[in-house]
Parts: sequence; C-alpha cells; structure tokens
Amino acid sequence: MSIEQKALFTIFGGTGDLAKRKLYPSLYRLYKKGYLKEKFAVIGTARREWADDFYRDVVIESIQDISESKEHAIKFASHFYYQSHNVTDIQHYNTLKTLSEKLDENYQLDGNRLFYLAMSPNFFGIISQNLKDRNLITPTGFNRLIIEKPFGQDFESALELNDQIRASFEEDQIYRIDHYLGKEMVQNISAVRFGNYMIESMWNSRYIDNIQITLSESIGVEERGGYYDTSGALRDMLQNHILQIISLLAMEPPTRLEDKEIRTEKIKALKAVRLFEPNEVSNYMVRGQYGPSKDEISKDLNGYREELNVAPESQTETFVSGKILIDNFRWAGVPFYFRTGKRLAEKGTQIDIEFKNVPLNLFDNNEEPLPANILTIYIQPTEGFSLELNTKKIGLGLETETLKLEHKHSAETTANSPEAYEKLILDCLNGDSTNFTHWDEVATSWKFVDIIRKHWDSEKIDFPNYASGSMGPIESEQLLNKDGFKWHWCPNNN
Ligand code: NAD
Repeated sequence: MSIEQKALFTIFGGTGDLAKRKLYPSLYRLYKKGYLKEKFAVIGTARREWADDFYRDVVIESIQDISESKEHAIKFASHFYYQSHNVTDIQHYNTLKTLSEKLDENYQLDGNRLFYLAMSPNFFGIISQNLKDRNLITPTGFNRLIIEKPFGQDFESALELNDQIRASFEEDQIYRIDHYLGKEMVQNISAVRFGNYMIESMWNSRYIDNIQITLSESIGVEERGGYYDTSGALRDMLQNHILQIISLLAMEPPTRLEDKEIRTEKIKALKAVRLFEPNEVSNYMVRGQYGPSKDEISKDLNGYREELNVAPESQTETFVSGKILIDNFRWAGVPFYFRTGKRLAEKGTQIDIEFKNVPLNLFDNNEEPLPANILTIYIQPTEGFSLELNTKKIGLGLETETLKLEHKHSAETTANSPEAYEKLILDCLNGDSTNFTHWDEVATSWKFVDIIRKHWDSEKIDFPNYASGSMGPIESEQLLNKDGFKWHWCPNNN
C-alpha cells in the first residue's frame, strides 16, 4: 500500500537535463502510485526567467510518454512552481523562502523539505550554506539534501566539499546519489546472498575463484566531451558505481537489512580493499582510450580525440579495468576484476561469479578441466540471473556439457520495475539512506582511486589503444590471462 508522503521539493537546476529526463518522470511515477497525492509541491529554480505556466508545460512534456492522460498530467503539473534564482545571489534565497513558506502552508507540508541539487557540484557549498543562513531549513519537519555525483575530484576536494555541506546539514540529512544503487538487480545482490543459504555458504574464498564486474557502454562521450575530458572513466565510474557494487558483493551479512547496519558492513569491506603502492599500479590497473572503429559497418565512428570539446592530444581514459583484492578472512586471494568503458562492443552491466573447479575431472572429457560453475547477475539492460552447471551429455559414455539455467525478467516486467531515481527519491522521502553513499564510503573510495590517478598522471601513454566496438585494450584481457582466467562475458564472440 502506498503511504502518502508530504514534502516541498526544491530542485536547483530545474531547467537542466537531469531534471527533465529523470526527476520529473520519477516524481510523476510516485504520483501515479499514490506516494505523492495532494500534499506536495515542487519549486523548480534556475537562472532563466520562466513563468509557472511555461514551467508546467516543460514538466508535462517531460512525462508525455508515461502520463495516464492529459488531464492527469495537468493535475500533477499544477503542483509545480518556478522561481528564477541565481544560486550565487543571496537576495534570491529570501524570495525562495517566501515562496516556500507560502506553498508549505497552502499544501499543508508540515515543514518537510527536500532540496535536490541537480547542478554543478561547484555550487553545492554555496547553496547549502545559504539554505541555512537564509532560514530555508525548517525547525519542524524533515530537511534533506540530495546531491548528484561527482562528489569531488579527489579525496582533498571531496573533503572540502563535504566540510562545506556539513557546516549546514548533518550527515544523516545528506543523500549522495549513486543511481546504480537504485537499480533493482543491484539491490538484488543482497537478496541472492542473504536469501539463499546455499549461495551465502559458498560466498567466500573457499569456493569462489574470482568475480568479474562489467559496466560497458556502446556509445561514446557524445556531447559530454567537455565534462568527460576533465573526469575520465576512473573518476566517473570506479570511485562510485564499481566500488559500491564491490562493497555489496564483499560485505559481511548485516545484522538487519537496515541502512546503518548495511553501511557499517560496506565500509568495513571498502576499508579492506588493498591499497597499491604507486609502483604497483600497472600490475593491477589498465587504462584505455577509444580510437575509430576498425569494423566496416561502423567505420565512420570517431576516435575519442576527434569528439567535440575533447583535447586533440587528450590523455583522458575512456576505459579502465583492474584487479581489486580484499584483504580479509572471507576474500583473501580472490581477485575482483572489473572493466568499464565507452564505445565497447555491447551495452550492458553484469556480474559473473566464477566458482572453483572440482578437484578432479572424472568424466570422459577428462583431458581438460571441467568448465567452472558461473553465477551471473544481469543488471542492465536485461535484469536476471543465470547459473552454469555441468551435466551429462545425452548418449553413450560419460561426456559432460555445460547447461545454463537462466531467468531473465521479461521486457514488460523490466519496463514496469521502478526507475532508479524513482526508488531513490522515495527512499529519501522515507528517510532511508541504505541506497545512498555515506561520507566514509566516499572518503575510502577516493583514497583508493587517488593512488591510481596520481600514478597515471605522472606517465604519458600512447592513446588511443582500443578500437571502437571492441571490449577494450588487449592488456585488459592479459590482466586475467596472467592469473589463469579470462573474461567470461565476450560480446564480440557471441
Ligand atoms: P545541466 O547543465 O543540464 O543543468 C544545470 C542546471 O543548473 C540548469 O538548470 C542551469 O540553468 C542551472 N544553473 C547553472 N548555473 C546556475 C546558477 N548560477 N544559478 C542557478 N542555476 C544555475 O546539467 P545536468 O545534466 O542536469 O546535471 C546536473 C547535475 O547532475 C550535475 O552535477 C551532473 O554531473 C549530475 N548528473 C547528471 C546526469 C544526467 O543524466 N544529466 C547523470 C548523473 C549525474
């Protein structure tokens, strides 16, 4: 049953891409499901001068593919108000306060406020400071701040940003979004582990040989070259999404599936990640940058250096893969391999868990070891699982074959599963921070990533080193081959 939530949403960056593509549709889905009913209002702010009616039309347009009817969309949009607001202008916060108080009273919101900072992190400090100094934070009700990635460029800048925000908001009022944590199948990692004793009892170095995580994109940087060229795959993907997935895979069972207990375990797992010495980085990490495609069909695809707003000699990596080791009792000796990049052969996110082989192959095909059992968790675009088992091949003799038990949710179920942003906004309304990143996680992740970044920045590399449409540079294959493994998911060979 949906319980109605009361709140005033103030969206900074209300004219931006994120607001239109993700936030308005997510709020509408919550409205359709009854989590938002009459007692909510949204203030969209940005520098432009827009009238409420114009803003409402923008909101209606952003939900046109999912709205029940025009009337329903109009009713939803009637809760939206636009306030032109330059976040660096202190006076503007006074106008915002007056409007917030009026809406609070009109919609009976009891002082519940959710501030969504959908804009550049450069402004997070100034916004949070002014929200406090100009009394937009209410003494009654809840006051929560949702902030978008990236959270800093390295540990130092993240710390500075955090100090600025913490001057106005307590840690438990800050919700750092990592939209991967809102994905159904990422949340399912805990269900698979802690809902199946068979699996959890094998979830350790005695039975697992290695874990492989792939987050691959088939598109290039498109129009985001300017931003991407200062960030790169390491900061954009490893520091947040990949280390978060690893912490969920590696953590000890929490005493309860509640935010504080889960967070304690995730932080413990992250703290056990081995920090490399600078001179060891190249043994564990591979970076890549895409060049043009070699394949005839897509031969017109540019290399990264030819993309809009990218430096012609750019040293920015569009691909990173690596081997992460977790020095604790459960995981000692089990490599966690990951790879992520742009312009790869296929778009997809999946986790392959490779179990140890049987000690002896007793079957007819005993010249080679039996294939390992693999549990795969598909995260996107399809959601589901598969388990590869060795079985007897029908016929005379005792030859084996590998059978794949697979469950992939139907396109319809996937389409109806809640969108990550929808889930996360609802969690925030409920005060549940399980699927958001705590400062301790951010800090620990940056310390790991900073070592790699510093080493890479000190050495020039001969880019580009992988073709668009491949699965990254050859060194990414070799990273596993030298340990006697190979990437389980090979879209090029399918
Ligand atoms: P955008 O450039 O489309 O929007 C930025 C918004 O900020 C606009 O509404 C703009 O008018 C407003 N703005 C800029 N300067 C301002 C000022 N001085 N005062 C008031 N308003 C000002 O950016 P976006 O793509 O919507 O991204 C917003 C944030 O979300 C960024 O931190 C980005 O990294 C993050 N993010 C975006 C996406 C996405 O899919 N777009 C995904 C993940 C994270």
